[in-house]
Amino acid sequence: MRILSRISAIICSVMLAAAFYTAAPTEYTPSVEVQAASRVDLNYLMKKYPDGKYWNHVGMNGNNADGYTDKPCHHSVYGGYYHTNGTCNYFNQIQCWGFVNKLANLCYGSQRYTDWPRTTLAKLKAGDAIRFKNNSHSIFVTGVDGSIVTYGECNGNYTDCKIRWNLKITKAEIARTLTAAYSAPAELTVNFENRTVLTKTDYKFGEKVNITASTAGGSGNVRYEFSVLKPNEKNYAVVQKYSDSKYCSYKPWVRGTYKFKVSARDSSGRIAEKVFSFSVTADELVNTSSADKSSLKSGENITLSLSAKGGTSGYHYRVRIKFPGSNNYTVIKNYSANTSFVLSPAEFGNYTFKTDVKDSSGSVSTKNISFKVTTKPLKNLSSMAKQTNSGEEAVINLSASGGAGDYSYSIEMTSPGSSERITLRKSTKGKKYAYRLTETGKYTFYVTVNDSDGNAKTETLATFSE
Ligand SMILES: [Zn+2]
Repeated sequence: MRILSRISAIICSVMLAAAFYTAAPTEYTPSVEVQAASRVDLNYLMKKYPDGKYWNHVGMNGNNADGYTDKPCHHSVYGGYYHTNGTCNYFNQIQCWGFVNKLANLCYGSQRYTDWPRTTLAKLKAGDAIRFKNNSHSIFVTGVDGSIVTYGECNGNYTDCKIRWNLKITKAEIARTLTAAYSAPAELTVNFENRTVLTKTDYKFGEKVNITASTAGGSGNVRYEFSVLKPNEKNYAVVQKYSDSKYCSYKPWVRGTYKFKVSARDSSGRIAEKVFSFSVTADELVNTSSADKSSLKSGENITLSLSAKGGTSGYHYRVRIKFPGSNNYTVIKNYSANTSFVLSPAEFGNYTFKTDVKDSSGSVSTKNISFKVTTKPLKNLSSMAKQTNSGEEAVINLSASGGAGDYSYSIEMTSPGSSERITLRKSTKGKKYAYRLTETGKYTFYVTVNDSDGNAKTETLATFSE
């Protein structure tokens, strides 16, 4: 009944308007104001009435047409008619019908979508309204793609006034139960928005910039591209080409201010871009460790000074070494804050230190420091020439190898029954030393070889006089 009277009222007003138009075209004010665009766009509506919420006033005192709740209505059915328990919202109608009226009002200022002229499914556009399902349901068209209609609604299941968006239905299916389609004064603006947010703008060197793209509106499948404009550069470089992935992780390598562009493209080719700025506040972590020498003699010390610059403060250092003739590195100092490391390499040949500095953000910088040991270690090869008897001479062969050469020997001795060391020779360059044994018992000789670099090696030799 109501619908019929409404339709006749519309037909009537159209006829009147037409008649008036013929008479005085310049003063004609159409009953439906012609608009170039909707006052608000689809994203506005979807934000105002979130998908899954309820267009009702459960728990509230009265009508809540501009709001929503988290709680469903509980409608009851009597004899095929829907009755409310009083929690449904109202805008010149209740439930689905009132909701579409409200959307029509927000978009075009209309009080009732049924005030709009009729249209056909062939001419259907975003913003139009449909009454169907044998005059039991109203929906708000948000997109038309060929035979597919996308729409929003309230109370689609007739039981709870739930708000739904981005539902899809074919025109053929609508046609089966269509009561009427109504033409909105303008196409609903469906803005394609890039809503990506980058919350962090200051990064330490080595830190990754993680971005998750976010968009609203747009049609079909949305794809994403990520580009960066590095400090002091003029052109963006693509970090990740257009793909379905919303995620991008980027590791900046130099200090300075960057721009990061997130491009989203929908299936109709619309592009929504968003550009962010962020800065990297620390320099690249650089290992500046050094050694006090690159060449040394066997037995000398080499000292590593471990240092770094850039990165994030809180450096820890590790030292590995490759010994002469080896292909592998051996850890000789685990990660610690100590900045000095001393080694006395004995073996002749080439060595490499591999020094690692790790900063508090986990970045690591490695520096290799090579050195060589130019001499073999000093060895004392002195020996007793033979066993001796009392009254004979004990003969010591004085011999050495390695070291810096130019050997000299010092000889000390303890006699049988004495612990006192007697110096026999301070420094001799001879090859032999002879000592006449006068007592029976154990003689111990301490032979020390010195090379020209001051290295010393002592050999203990004993003989027994009988
Ligand atoms: Zn309800």
